[in-house]
Amino acid sequence: MDETRNIVILTGAGISAESGIDTFRGGGGLWEQHRVEDVATPEAFARDPNLVLRFYDMRREAIQTKRPNPAHDALARLDANWKGGLLIVTQNVDDLHERAGAPYGIEPRVLHMHGEHLNAWCTFCDARSRWSGPLADRPECPRCGARALRPDVVWFGEMPYRMDEIHAALRMADLFVSIGTSGAVYPAAGFVQTARDLGVETLELNLERSQGSHWFHETRLGPAGELVPAWVDEVLAG
Ligand code: NAD
Repeated sequence: MDETRNIVILTGAGISAESGIDTFRGGGGLWEQHRVEDVATPEAFARDPNLVLRFYDMRREAIQTKRPNPAHDALARLDANWKGGLLIVTQNVDDLHERAGAPYGIEPRVLHMHGEHLNAWCTFCDARSRWSGPLADRPECPRCGARALRPDVVWFGEMPYRMDEIHAALRMADLFVSIGTSGAVYPAAGFVQTARDLGVETLELNLERSQGSHWFHETRLGPAGELVPAWVDEVLAG
């Protein structure tokens, strides 16, 4: 592939599955024994903040024990070696893309459209702070001191982050690749249609066909830990 081409990659929970992080829909409709609407909506937070904060504290603690897998490593290798434009848009709130970039001495070009587990958002002063500990004990915001921190993750019913940047990247893209996402959560699920409308080539890498699979020019099925390194080798070989 011509090394000056622009690539936009969308990743979802499936790319982190082989690192031991549960996907949303892997557990028979339950996410870590909870219904999504009980832990991942603003209504749930208003109704039972302790439950929601404890749930995210558990997830935040868990992801820090996980490691990037060969799929994250391969994307970091692509990032370190690709001369053209590259943007990794992730729906994931883990930091495995960033950690995979470390051996290459680069900060990978990653945009977290659904926020990050390792950030806390102060709903009083709007500051975001890097956060690795619990929030359920209502710590003070490092900026303003208010005890009004929540996980900096986008819940169902909230607006994803940085949509303008994502659409700008899609407009410039030559290739759109979707990895490990079910195609059930909008607006991310609609990026492939936007890409098609713009005349961008599209490729899906997933364990099974996603809901929007028919929109892709090509679909490759299998575990991300195998498909992604093979695809990156292909791209870098030109
Ligand atoms: P999803 O759970 O809806 O879908 C996961 C997809 O990954 C499925 O299509 C599944 O077939 C595929 N998959 C599972 N194992 C795979 C593997 N080893 N290799 C390749 N594909 C595999 O997840 P989604 O589409 O990302 O959307 C749900 C939401 O879940 C997102 O908004 C995301 O923020 C959130 N989420 C994030 C994490 C995380 O940060 N790691 C974990 C769970 C959920």
